[in-house]
Formats: sequence, structure tokens, C-alpha cells
Amino acid sequence: MKNSKVYLRLFFNQPCFLCRLHTAGASGLCDACHADLPWLIGCCPRCAEPRSPRIPPDQPCGRCQTSPPGFDRVIAAFGYAFPLSQMIPGIKYHRRPALLGGLAATLAGLLQERIETPPDLLLPVPMHPWQESVRGFNQAALLASELGKRLDIPVSHSTLRKVRRTGHQAELDRRSRAINLRGSFALSGRVPERVAIVDDILTTGATANELAKLLKKAGSNEVQVWVLARTPSN
Ligand SMILES: [Zn+2]
Ligand SMILES: [Zn+2]
Repeated sequence: MKNSKVYLRLFFNQPCFLCRLHTAGASGLCDACHADLPWLIGCCPRCAEPRSPRIPPDQPCGRCQTSPPGFDRVIAAFGYAFPLSQMIPGIKYHRRPALLGGLAATLAGLLQERIETPPDLLLPVPMHPWQESVRGFNQAALLASELGKRLDIPVSHSTLRKVRRTGHQAELDRRSRAINLRGSFALSGRVPERVAIVDDILTTGATANELAKLLKKAGSNEVQVWVLARTPSN
């Protein structure tokens, strides 16, 4: 991404994004605010849907058991709750992509702990070119670039493309989201065996599911999904 270096500069000697009282660390937050983030502790091992940490961590949720998604595993750093629920829309809609650098550093640290064999390629969830030109950047692409750099994994910004605009998914329920997305993505070129789709938030997983199906049809064996935050069930 052409401007990612400018967007993703670190926060040295900047005040904490949340409390403004202390100096920010690499995440953009001070140590206390960083520790208070809504870390995703208990979740389904397949779709990362938040749940009680008392449920055995290797037991998939009911939905993943009855209709398994196209992807094999979701890794999310956080539940989608305050302050992530302010920081992520802040990045997207108030054009503050610099905030992404700190969250990306946090997710990269977590991935380093959890991933045994890294994927061969990172693929950001694409935006429709028209939407991207209005926003000026694709937050998933910036996140993928930052994770790729930190984890030393190549990133492709051209393998997946969004070819049809799909409106505001946020207003649709689970089933309508899946229908709305059909045929809206295209894939070009060869895909390696193991890939990870990168996005900022996973909601119903409809987008990740659609992309994972495309990738598996094109020859990938394992599709992971890496996101900053996972919303509760809806
Ligand atoms: Zn703070
Ligand atoms: Zn699940």
C-alpha cells in the first residue's frame, strides 16, 4: 500500500489514545489501558465466537458442528467491545488509520504465540474499488501489510478482488448477508496451500466464509482468518 508507511508510524512519545494521561506504548495505548482491552479469552476454536472460558477450548460451537464454515480457524485478539468498538470505526470512518499500527502490533504478538506453522500468504479482505477510493484506504489491506511485515509472511493485494458492491452488511441478518455476498468476490492467479484471510472485524463470518470457499475451490487446503476483533453471536 503506497501510504502505509505514513499511516502506520509508531506512537513514540504520544499520549495514550484512550486516557491521554500516560505515554503510549507500541499499541498506541498506555500499559494500564492495554491491559484493560477486551481480550478474547473464551471462544469457539473454529469461528472464534465469544463464549464462557469454562467450555473446553477444543470443542467447536453448535453452529460450527452442524454447518461447518468454509474456513478452518479464526484467530481474533479481542471481543468487539469498548474501546475497540470506538477505535475500529474511528480508523474506518474518521480516517485515523494510524491507530491500526498499534492494534496490528498486538495481534501480531498474539499470532506469534499461537501459530505453529505460518501460512504461505496473507490475503486482505478486499473492498470494492469505488468504496476504497471514497475512503482512501482499505483497513484490512493496511492490517495485512503490517502483519506480513512483522511476521515475515508475503501479502497479496491482488489475488482477491471485490467485483460487486454489496451495500451495508451491518443492516442485514446472517442469512441475508450470505445471500447478499454471493458472486461479489473474484480470485485471480494461483493460491498456495495455506493462506490466512485478514480483516479488522469478524461479525457473522459471511464474508470470510465466501472467500474461504473461493480459495478452497482454487486449491488452498487450509484457510485461516485473522482479525482484530470478533463480535458476539448475532
Ligand atoms: Zn491509557
Ligand atoms: Zn464456531
